[in-house]
Amino acid sequence: MPGPARVIAIDGPAGSGKSTVAREVAARLGLDYLDTGAMYRAVAYEAIRRNIEPDDAERVAELARQLELTVAAQVMVNGTDATVEIRSPEVTRAVSVVAANPQVRHEMVLRQREWAKAHGGGVVEGRDIGTVVFPNADLKVYLTADDGERANRRTKEMLDRSYDQVAAELARRDHLDSTRAASPLAIAPDAVHLDTTSLNAEQVVERVLALLSQP
Ligand code: C5P
Repeated sequence: MPGPARVIAIDGPAGSGKSTVAREVAARLGLDYLDTGAMYRAVAYEAIRRNIEPDDAERVAELARQLELTVAAQVMVNGTDATVEIRSPEVTRAVSVVAANPQVRHEMVLRQREWAKAHGGGVVEGRDIGTVVFPNADLKVYLTADDGERANRRTKEMLDRSYDQVAAELARRDHLDSTRAASPLAIAPDAVHLDTTSLNAEQVVERVLALLSQP
């Protein structure tokens, strides 16, 4: 018999190891995994595609409400597979402005809660999962890593960008994400803070799983 719905919230800045760790923790626990950053990226992607300025709050909010969006192994946006496109530098540049829009956040948070209901809980990664989306999550983990290490990790993933470009983009996004008025990137008071600078993904996964088995 399946146990009660469990939600595990994994938050932190870009390059802290969230996606790799969240995906693996979900697989080991037999839970589904939701990448909420992909949802904000999908809104930014569709805005760009329709020539809507990312800071046009009303039009972007309307677009977000209308968006047909599925985030799983593939990211489907209004019937189109945008799995690769939502990771483009253009979308990455625009996404923090889109994500600062309170109406967009309201819509995405509703969808994230619906997702968890439909999937019997899950491992959910983002920036505001433990603070806003699931304040009663069974476990909240906040991952960080040194700025240089995060930029290194991202540079390895993005073969066409130099370390300096990636580091500058990360710093810009960190700043926007942590200073916005609506649900800024923040550590929940009851989150476990894990610095992943000198840990590999497997070690972080083991620590998260160990937290779950604590009484
Ligand atoms: O996780 P990822 O780096 O793909 O997220 C892209 C952007 O989406 C972040 O820089 C942030 O602006 C936004 N985001 C957010 N809240 C979340 C997840 C992502 O604001 N829960």
